[in-house]
Amino acid sequence: MTAKTEVRVRYAPSPTGFPHIGNIRTALFNWLLARHEGGRFILRIEDTDQARIVPGSLQAIMDGLRWLGLDWDEGPEAGGSFGPYIQSERLSIYQQYAEQLLEAGQAYRCYCTSERLDEMRAEQRARKEPPRYDRRCRYLSATERQALERAGLPWVVRFATPEEGTTTFVDYLRGEIAFEHAVLDDHVLLKSDGWPTYQLASVVDDHLMEISHVIRGDEWISSAPRHVLLYKAFGWDLPVLVHIPLILGKDHSKLSKRHGAVDVLQYREQGYLPEALVNFMALLGWALDEKTELFDRERLIREFTLDRLGKNPAIFDNDKLDWMNGHYIRQLAPAELAARLYPYYEQAGLVAKAGGESSARPIIDAITPYIQERMKRLTDAIELTDFLFTDVIQYQPALLVPKGWDAVQTATALQVALAEIEDADDMSAASLEARFRAKAEATGWKAGQFFGAIRVAVTGKTVAPPLFATIEALGRQRALARINHAVWLLTSPSV
Ligand code: GLU
Repeated sequence: MTAKTEVRVRYAPSPTGFPHIGNIRTALFNWLLARHEGGRFILRIEDTDQARIVPGSLQAIMDGLRWLGLDWDEGPEAGGSFGPYIQSERLSIYQQYAEQLLEAGQAYRCYCTSERLDEMRAEQRARKEPPRYDRRCRYLSATERQALERAGLPWVVRFATPEEGTTTFVDYLRGEIAFEHAVLDDHVLLKSDGWPTYQLASVVDDHLMEISHVIRGDEWISSAPRHVLLYKAFGWDLPVLVHIPLILGKDHSKLSKRHGAVDVLQYREQGYLPEALVNFMALLGWALDEKTELFDRERLIREFTLDRLGKNPAIFDNDKLDWMNGHYIRQLAPAELAARLYPYYEQAGLVAKAGGESSARPIIDAITPYIQERMKRLTDAIELTDFLFTDVIQYQPALLVPKGWDAVQTATALQVALAEIEDADDMSAASLEARFRAKAEATGWKAGQFFGAIRVAVTGKTVAPPLFATIEALGRQRALARINHAVWLLTSPSV
């Protein structure tokens, strides 16, 4: 195993679905190694299984990487001197390398029909043997082969796996792995339509793109022996192979939606920050020490080395992600947080309700500092502050009446609040608070009851951002209108 001098790593997703967190973690580890080493991070799209392609997934892969800030140095839309980086645009390259193996006798054309292969497998099953190609076409005589060629039968190219012996390779995390050739199949390299299989395309590309380290999920380790034999057949050096342990749920079963794990772009929709997700994913299989949990991007790049990868499966803990997200939300400057919240307000239809961007932005800017501490996800802001964006708020009038007060007392207190707001020269939260506290003292009303009634009147909720910040964000006219409406509700006969 010879490590190439420049670190060149690749993330090689198949566009067969929306990228899942486990898959994107592979991208992150590759990206971190490239950035730590000053190497190159390559995005290669493995779309040779055309039947499994899911429309839109290539775009989702690129959007997900960009959202997380995992920029690629070479690949689709970035270019690079080893392209094209989409395998369906490289078919003639794979065909040429398959041809090279055919000429060297390391591969052969197989003419078996799918009917014959089905029969063969059924017989193997009946004999309780593992299903495997019986190598009939490997040992055809030259005359038999010519006859099949002349008949114009379709063929695939199969790898001529050595029938005896053992090959050993080293996985960076697992150490030396030996496998017997006898257990391997003569797997297909090129299909009858001229398209390569994953095995051929991946090995050829890793070689031609001068990949120094192949870092990928543990589920690919069973393919490694076939890759290793292909490298040998071509006479190429192996890259460093690193199969990273799986991610499991807290119950130690395979990670799934059940554990709260979703597609990477769904995390964005759910109000997670890319900073939090990057930090969280980095710790799924990598650790600096036993205690440090918070790593910003720069620190991750500085500290990320392969020797700190774990050998055991990583456990996915959604509560930890929420905790981290709250941490990164609190880290943002309020103006930055307000800017990041804006698209969520827009999405929730609140910008439109407020009468457009120019009315919505000042409300968001004003309220953000007061809700920052309370948020775990960006989407929490919507629930906490939606009442600021509409003219009509809806709530049960009974909610207005605090414990220990009745409707008449509440209406009286709200009328006092109206007068205070009308008289206020300064509508800032601090000044309003001082004014209302003085009033509470003068009247002997408990702040809990007095402010509670006003809170429901202006927000429609019993739990909301700090009251006076809310009134400031609402502005005098809207605050007055809401309290007036509350008084009307309390004095109308239905309460
Ligand atoms: N195309 C494979 C995937 O979807 C890549 C496996 C590899 O990294 O070799 O994950």
